[in-house]
Amino acid sequence: MTQPSVLVVEDEPAQRAVLTYNLESEGFRVVEAENGEEALLLVSEEAPDVVVLDWMLPSVSGIEVCRQLKMRKETQALPIIMLSARSEEIDKIRGLETGADDYVTKPYSVLELIARVKSQLRRSRPGAMAGRLQYEDIVLDTENHRVTRSGEEIKLGPTEFRLLTTLIEKPGRVWSRELLLDRVWGREIYVDTRTVDVHIGRLRKALSKHGGEDPVRTVRGAGYALG
Ligand code: CA
Repeated sequence: MTQPSVLVVEDEPAQRAVLTYNLESEGFRVVEAENGEEALLLVSEEAPDVVVLDWMLPSVSGIEVCRQLKMRKETQALPIIMLSARSEEIDKIRGLETGADDYVTKPYSVLELIARVKSQLRRSRPGAMAGRLQYEDIVLDTENHRVTRSGEEIKLGPTEFRLLTTLIEKPGRVWSRELLLDRVWGREIYVDTRTVDVHIGRLRKALSKHGGEDPVRTVRGAGYALG
């Protein structure tokens, strides 16, 4: 199961550390950004599942980051939870219609914030919270590590299983080879990007073993997508 990930954008190191510590204890992978520019860069590089975004940031403000993310087609659906220092500012934020998905006022309870993160995650990545993922006739059971297609059992190696889990969580999303390497192999290990092609080939073969069209789409110059 690929870990759900959260991008924490907060300029105060102590607050960032508290958030990271608590989110990691809950099983999230945490990516940290200390300012808006870094946040925008990391969203493209890391493809987080949820963003926790402080409003008050040096130079590029949280509102501006939120506005930019909601404008880009690839990140429009990415859930953003805004952190704001004073309650009266919430009305202001709402008035500005930044498009944030949720707001939390500082000082906040970490437990409540985590509950909000989970609730956003249930929307953006249902598979991370459930044991069963489905795309058309392909069903992946994350708890029992089983895959079936039209009811027929599909045998997959551990790498192909993780690849399929990543792809099936976001059908239609185009994954670059680099991003798949990070998600499936982990970034500590050096693996050539061509390895991804090899395992995609194996996954395709396995999925079509009992018939059915190849569900994996090659996007030239970009990577792979399911459907
Ligand atoms: Ca701040």
